[in-house]
Amino acid sequence: TPASIPDRRRVLVAKPRGYCAGVDRAVEAVEKALAQYGAPIYVRKQIVHNTHVVRTLEGRGAIFVDETEEVPEGAIVVFSAHGVAPAVHDEAARRRLKTIDATCPLVTKVHNEAKRFAAQDYDILLIGHEGHEEVEGTAGEAPDHVQLVDGLDGVGTVSVRDPRKVVWLSQTTLSVDETTETVSRLKERFPNLIDPPSDDICYATSNRQTAVKEIAAQSQLVLVVGSENSSNSKRLVEVALDYGAKASYLVDDASHIDDTWLDGVTTIGLTSGASVPEILVDGVLRKLATHGFTDVEEVESVQERMRFALPHELRKNLRA
Ligand code: SF4
Repeated sequence: TPASIPDRRRVLVAKPRGYCAGVDRAVEAVEKALAQYGAPIYVRKQIVHNTHVVRTLEGRGAIFVDETEEVPEGAIVVFSAHGVAPAVHDEAARRRLKTIDATCPLVTKVHNEAKRFAAQDYDILLIGHEGHEEVEGTAGEAPDHVQLVDGLDGVGTVSVRDPRKVVWLSQTTLSVDETTETVSRLKERFPNLIDPPSDDICYATSNRQTAVKEIAAQSQLVLVVGSENSSNSKRLVEVALDYGAKASYLVDDASHIDDTWLDGVTTIGLTSGASVPEILVDGVLRKLATHGFTDVEEVESVQERMRFALPHELRKNLRA
């Protein structure tokens, strides 16, 4: 009842949030391919880890498959933003597929680091989440040199050939704080462990974590818009809780909000993962407004201006 709603219910909206440059580019690559070549356009794996984006593109004629062997010979296939192992490129070439590689340039950068250190015969400790597509792609660049370290629990079990020749690399969408901790534990075991030449956790991941830290302590509840399989979105829930939010939930869209979460809450923090279109955040704000959360304030912590050029394959005629 309106009587139970406190006078001032507000929403602090984190900025930056939502689409990063790599997601923007990958989604646009599929849209452009559909516009240039018509449906169907095949996409290996979810182009980005967001249910809404995948459904929308399906509606326009994209067909999502798990492996390239499901794509008819000679058809056009887009590789997702998370990147693929060289074996996937080889398989696509064997099947004479026309590929558009939407791998984020910041993931490609980590692939190149893996290749370079493997060529110098380093043991590579790849910090990341077991089974995540990005990790599979990066490890696939140098399967004989890469070992996965899945968080702090993985530190004790890795073994290397020569402790003077070890480097760590990481997935792009990890928690910055947890990775720092994992690296320091790894360095206790391997004091000569080499750092990556530049940060592997990408600007978008770390900026969204910085932004949610800014609002977490002032919010009784932090809502993170994002899908369950989105690594960077899930990290935002953890960071919000670590930085003082009393509760935090991941929601795919407004319909996933449980009204009981709002009981007694006067300030809600709101953010979204790097694969989340702003329309979903707008939907959450509309729903919150119906519960009296009409005082909306955006809290900007970092300015972002990153843009990536579209995959070069879109500049040629793939059907020729
Ligand atoms: Fe690229 Fe980072 Fe976006 Fe992943 S989250 S697509 S690495 S910019």
